[in-house]
Amino acid sequence: MQLRIPGPTPCPPQALEAMGRQMINHRGGEFGKILNSITGKLKQAFQTKGDVFVLTASGTGGLEAAVVNTLSPGDKVLSLANGFFGERFADIAEEYGAEVTRLNFEWGKPVSPDAAEKALKADGNIKAVLATHNETSTGVTNDIKEISAVVKKFDKLLLVDAISSLGCINLPTDDWNCDIVVTASQKGWMVPPGLAMVSVSEKAWQAHAKAKMPRYYWDFSKAKDFLQKGQTPWTPAISVFYALDVTLDLILSEGLDNIFTRHARVAQTARNGVKSLGLSLFPDEKYASNTVTAVNATDKIDVPKLIQMLREEYEVIIAGGQQKLSGKIFRIGHLGLVYEKDIKSVLEALNKALPRAKKG
Ligand SMILES: *Cc1c(COP(=O)(O)O)cnc(C)c1O
Repeated sequence: MQLRIPGPTPCPPQALEAMGRQMINHRGGEFGKILNSITGKLKQAFQTKGDVFVLTASGTGGLEAAVVNTLSPGDKVLSLANGFFGERFADIAEEYGAEVTRLNFEWGKPVSPDAAEKALKADGNIKAVLATHNETSTGVTNDIKEISAVVKKFDKLLLVDAISSLGCINLPTDDWNCDIVVTASQKGWMVPPGLAMVSVSEKAWQAHAKAKMPRYYWDFSKAKDFLQKGQTPWTPAISVFYALDVTLDLILSEGLDNIFTRHARVAQTARNGVKSLGLSLFPDEKYASNTVTAVNATDKIDVPKLIQMLREEYEVIIAGGQQKLSGKIFRIGHLGLVYEKDIKSVLEALNKALPRAKKG
């Protein structure tokens, strides 16, 4: 089976093998070594000198942690959303009592830094900005560098969902002044679901000191105190830590720049390939993601039928569209453990299945 959805992604054999290890005491020295090793390597991958915490949660838990650790009920927040996941981030902030201004952009288009600037100018009381680096639902990568330049001109907090991009597409956390960056184990990190990884800047810690939203499981102060003892506050998903320790070694030995280049190359192969099959990309190509390619189904392709055919006849698993894009697009995930040959085999399967996946 070729799993080509934007997470969970395939794991290398070394990671799967590591997961088979016996359990250890999560309050013992052996786990402490693993936690410290992972934390140090993650700082390199996040390109930060700030704090990085590994939370036992899926990515959404990391987004919730970002919100409740930095904000208070009634705080004004600007949400920059151009898809399903951007809206989720805003929903979380709203659920916890933030007053969210939703600046929504057409799905398939990038977030406009100019529009963000106008919104920040119009309301001086905004405290934080929520942004998505890679909008997985539409296959668009937003220009966080430009967005951050605007946010920092107004000296606001910048919380970034980089769940499906970090470790695959360049996002230098410190250079681009991102206060919180969130990612998750099952995306580019080549390990199973179960961990959310978050970075916390100095400015985010200052906000944390005053933040009044309820927090317990997600409390970064607790995470920091326990990390100093080589522990996590709550029982961690130990097996996934074993795997992450191994894949981070693979990642750092390949080198971040090489990984970014590989993802760019693989994504270009995907884009060229679908176009050569007579299909068109859903997003603006200039902003097309290097981790997920979203393809227009047009009114001729029956997406559920196509997905079923690829799975049953060619052992290729791709994703459909989410929410309002259901039936309108399909998505090929290419993040983490992926090479050109993998995408070529997806394209070959598509080529064979497409003529038979017509509507009607
Ligand atoms: C996958 C994803 C999420 C959700 O992560 P879960 O691990 O399913 O909670 C959020 N944002 C983006 C951009 C994603 O790709």
